[in-house]
Amino acid sequence: MLDRNRITINQITTNALSLPEAVEAYAAAGIKGITPWRDKVEAVGARAARTLIEDSGLSVTGFCLAGLYTQKGKAARATQIDEAKRAIDIAAELGSPSIVTVVGGLLPDSKSLDEARSFAFDCLADTLGHARSSGVKMALEPLHPMYTPDWSVLGGLSEANAWCDKLGDGIGIAVDTYHVWWDPDVLRQIAISGKLGRLTAFHVSDWKMETASLLMDRGVPGEGVIDLQSMHSAMTDAGFQGWVEVEIFSERHWARPAKLLIDDIVAGCVNTM
Ligand code: ZN
Repeated sequence: MLDRNRITINQITTNALSLPEAVEAYAAAGIKGITPWRDKVEAVGARAARTLIEDSGLSVTGFCLAGLYTQKGKAARATQIDEAKRAIDIAAELGSPSIVTVVGGLLPDSKSLDEARSFAFDCLADTLGHARSSGVKMALEPLHPMYTPDWSVLGGLSEANAWCDKLGDGIGIAVDTYHVWWDPDVLRQIAISGKLGRLTAFHVSDWKMETASLLMDRGVPGEGVIDLQSMHSAMTDAGFQGWVEVEIFSERHWARPAKLLIDDIVAGCVNTM
C-alpha cells in the first residue's frame, strides 16, 4: 500500500484554483508536495510563490513546463529556447529539483516528423547547459503517440532513453502512466531508465475506458484501466524513491470541489499502488 506521505499533486489537477488556493487546499488535506505551473506562479511572482509554499510546509516537487520548441516554427527558435531558459530560472527560484520538459509536435506547415524531431532535439540540447548550471534537472516526458501532431513528436520511453543517451548529464525522464501504459516494453524501459539514473518524476492518472476527451478526461487512480500497481512496482524496483505525482487533466474533475477531488485522489492512490 502506497504511503500517502509520498503523494504530491501536479497543479493542473486543480486547475480552477490559484496558487494560494491550491496550496491551502493541499496542505489542509495533508498532501506534502506540489508541482506548480508557470502561469499560476507568475500570477503571484516566483519569490512570493516560494515563500507561500514553504510557509505551508509543502515541498516543491517539480515545475511545469519547458519545451514546446516546435510550436511557433523554425523562425522562433531563439525565442523558444529563451522561454525554456526562463522557465528553468523560475524553477530554480522556486527551489524545484526538476522541470517537466515536453518537446512539441510537428512544425507548422510541415508534415515531416524527422524534421520536427531533429529541430526539437537540437533546441533541447541548446537549453540543457542552462539547466545544468541552474541545478534544475530537465525531466523529459514522452507523451502518448496520439499527441504527436500537436504536443510531442517524442513518444515512448525507448525514444526518451535514446534522446537521453545522446544528451548526457542534466536530463532525466518523467514517466507518466497516462502516456506510456500501453507500451509493451514499458516495464523494461522503466528498468533501463532506473539503471541509468534517469527516473526523475512519476506522474499518475488513469485511462477511462469510456473517455469523453483524450485530452481533458483523465481519471483519478482507480477510475480506469491502467495497471498502476505494476507500473509503481517497476518504478520502485528500478530504484525510484521519489514522489508519486498525481496529474489529472479533466474538465469533469476540475468542476468538482477541490476537497472532494483530493480525498478521492488519496484514496485512489493508496488503494491502487
Ligand atoms: Zn505528465
